[in-house]
Amino acid sequence: MENGYFQIYTGNGKGKTTAALGLAMRAAGAGLKVYIGQFIKSMEYHEIGILRERFPEVTVDLFGIKGCIAGRDPDLTDIQAAWEGYEKSKAALMSRKYDVVILDEFFIATHFGLITREQAVNLADCRTPGTELIMTGRFAPDYLLDKADLITEMKEVRHYYATQGVEARDGIER
Ligand code: ATP
Ligand code: MG
Repeated sequence: MENGYFQIYTGNGKGKTTAALGLAMRAAGAGLKVYIGQFIKSMEYHEIGILRERFPEVTVDLFGIKGCIAGRDPDLTDIQAAWEGYEKSKAALMSRKYDVVILDEFFIATHFGLITREQAVNLADCRTPGTELIMTGRFAPDYLLDKADLITEMKEVRHYYATQGVEARDGIER
């Protein structure tokens, strides 16, 4: 690609990660090379296995530790995982190997202070001109929103978890 842009999918409604994955599939279909770095999550959701098996043009790395970060203080292992994510994402953005770089749940990492503002800005700024960057997650910080070329906010209008207590289902939420 001649020109890549910086996209953000944020907000409290469902659809941020799945939108990014849809874009990854479209890009792969067009012959583009895609890098996906998932922050926070260590559990392989169902999209990961199928990407690795059937989409050789898509590279996926997970930068999370076991267990959920919500409801506890981040510890050293969380920080180490996020730092690895920072280094690998930076390498992917600068390598010219990828046309599209997706950093999923990136804003959860900034929200919990696992990635510093300086690191986040550095990632947004270091990509080669032909690389499209997509960051997703709740709580996109203003200093990254200011830099984005495209921002989509997923807004929860109704969610069956809230109204009916429907828990995460395989193939739909994970
Ligand atoms: P998805 O992965 O389904 O596209 P997402 O990336 O927009 O969702 P996250 O904020 O990453 O959502 O949420 C993590 C998990 O919570 C996912 O399993 C997601 O489907 C689910 N989820 C998303 N929005 C809501 C919501 N408003 N209420 C309850 N659960 C939600
Ligand atoms: Mg998500």
